[in-house]
Amino acid sequence: MPELPEVETTRAGLAPHLTGRTISAVTLRRPDLRWPIPPEVAAQLPGQRIDTIRRRAKYLLLDTHAGSALLHLGMSGSLRVLAPDVPVRRHDHVDIALDSGQVLRFNDPRRFGCLLWQPAGETHALLRDLGPEPLDDAFDGDYLFRASRGRRAPVKAFLMDQRIVVGVGNIYAAEALHAAGISPLREAGRIARERYVRLGAEIRRILAYAIGRGGTTLRDFISPDGAPGYFEQELSAYGRGGLPCPGCGTPLRQALIAQRTTVWCPRCQR
Ligand SMILES: [Zn+2]
Repeated sequence: MPELPEVETTRAGLAPHLTGRTISAVTLRRPDLRWPIPPEVAAQLPGQRIDTIRRRAKYLLLDTHAGSALLHLGMSGSLRVLAPDVPVRRHDHVDIALDSGQVLRFNDPRRFGCLLWQPAGETHALLRDLGPEPLDDAFDGDYLFRASRGRRAPVKAFLMDQRIVVGVGNIYAAEALHAAGISPLREAGRIARERYVRLGAEIRRILAYAIGRGGTTLRDFISPDGAPGYFEQELSAYGRGGLPCPGCGTPLRQALIAQRTTVWCPRCQR
């Protein structure tokens, strides 16, 4: 599944091809992805200039004067900029043609992705209750400390709650908790401020590093399963249950927390 770094890398890779371009046509090869594609997408976008391509959480927004196309890659989606004569493949559901002659093509085999419409000046319901971006100034360990008071959920579930902070998925929550020496099982409301300061810094460091790595290997995450192959071999905890902890050699433990597989070191993480 594309995580925040892959989506940010997608945004950065697409921006030079999209920014300032006028949309000449929209082709929908099916009426829906995860949800129906609203009629405004095909009705309003042609003739509009793309002012910016932004990311919010794992959503991408193509901003125009009339409104924004709101895209999510879901489990298996990918966006590519292609010459118009590249043959349409199976699962190529949407083409957005540009005045450059290129086409932005949305492929999504499993159709957990979406293409929605956000009218100018409004915030789509999906974006309304999202927490801060982990790389924005509004996010740090002090923020996590304040937000966690009175919360009884395990800290890993707390970090993965999009209303608290966006884009800290299973991989990055596991890695940041390992780096900060905090057990994923610990109750969020019972962790001291200085430990959250360290955790906040580790979340930012790990995500920034992953984005930096993704930025040079655009092809890797466009693989059909969206696996972050460029980063996987550098993971300390995620996907390594039973293997030795890179910090101390103790076998890493594995359990389900909030229905997600979680790996941690029983010695380094308290
Ligand atoms: Zn350890």
